[in-house]
Amino acid sequence: MSTIAFLGLGAIGAPMAQHLPARGFDLIIWNRTRERADRLARSVRARVARTPAEAARESDVVITCLPTSREVEDLLGGDDGLMAGFRRGATLVDCTSGDPATSRRIAARLREHGVAFVDAPVSGGKRGAEEGTLTVMCGGDAAVVERVRPILSAFGKNIVHCGDVGAGDMVKAVNQALLAIHIWATGEGLATLAKAGVDTRIALDVINASSGRSNTSMNLFPERVLSRAFPRTFRLALLDKDLRIAADMARDAGVPAPLTQLASELFRAARAELGEEADHVEAVRVIERTAGVEIGA
Ligand code: NDP
Repeated sequence: MSTIAFLGLGAIGAPMAQHLPARGFDLIIWNRTRERADRLARSVRARVARTPAEAARESDVVITCLPTSREVEDLLGGDDGLMAGFRRGATLVDCTSGDPATSRRIAARLREHGVAFVDAPVSGGKRGAEEGTLTVMCGGDAAVVERVRPILSAFGKNIVHCGDVGAGDMVKAVNQALLAIHIWATGEGLATLAKAGVDTRIALDVINASSGRSNTSMNLFPERVLSRAFPRTFRLALLDKDLRIAADMARDAGVPAPLTQLASELFRAARAELGEEADHVEAVRVIERTAGVEIGA
């Protein structure tokens, strides 16, 4: 039985980690705020490590799922850090939606210690994590990705090798830019229709049977905006972070990307207005406030 360490039991990390014991893996968990790890250990078979080093010392594969690559890199160093515990031949699978440059730097540092690295951001949200149906986009050596595939399949349905280290991060960032653009554009369109006196429920039904539909219009708007539920599943602050990665990538590649740049600016402003705990779909509230209308009212 392989021993897996899972570090970072946030909104998406906890429901991902909970599948591992049922798949026959020996699970060790660590979270900065220990209470979250203790809570998970009460519902699934898992041991709680006191430090990242302790978690790595006993594991063949370490999975991280933190806000950004910076927190992952910070977790490596120091007496209690991952580097102090890694076994030779171990693998770090980073499920953070990270930035490719930092992932490459982490991979190079680990390689010197005989530890492999895969960037493996996920998509599918909290519900996908709970149901074990996430898409996992992997960057790294093909043989290493194959080696960890049985572990990733505990929470992922589509596990795709996208290329070298950083490729998973890059595909994820572009996906997130598309998500943000869909949210903003759908919000703008429906706010305009609402203000012009058109019933937005009827309008959304028409759009969802027409060529302008998207996952955002088909699922996010009916379930979260028209219902006014706005559940907090994925923080706006994290989508802002993803957009910065996408905008930087386009700039570095010399690709003019005015839509991505603008989306990055809009979501940065929305984050400043709504705060660190707001959900990503709540960006629509900024459109509503500036338009002076409530979608679905
Ligand atoms: P959350 O904000 O819910 O959780 C963040 C986790 O990281 C917590 O466990 C937190 O610990 C830990 N953490 C934060 N800062 C540090 C630090 N400096 N050192 C150690 N641990 C730290 O984030 P999510 O779970 O939503 O997201 C995690 C990653 O997954 C992000 O990259 C996100 O973009 C991505 N993602 C999220 C999705 C979602 O639906 N939520 C969907 C797809 C991808 P503590 O408990 O102590 O705060």
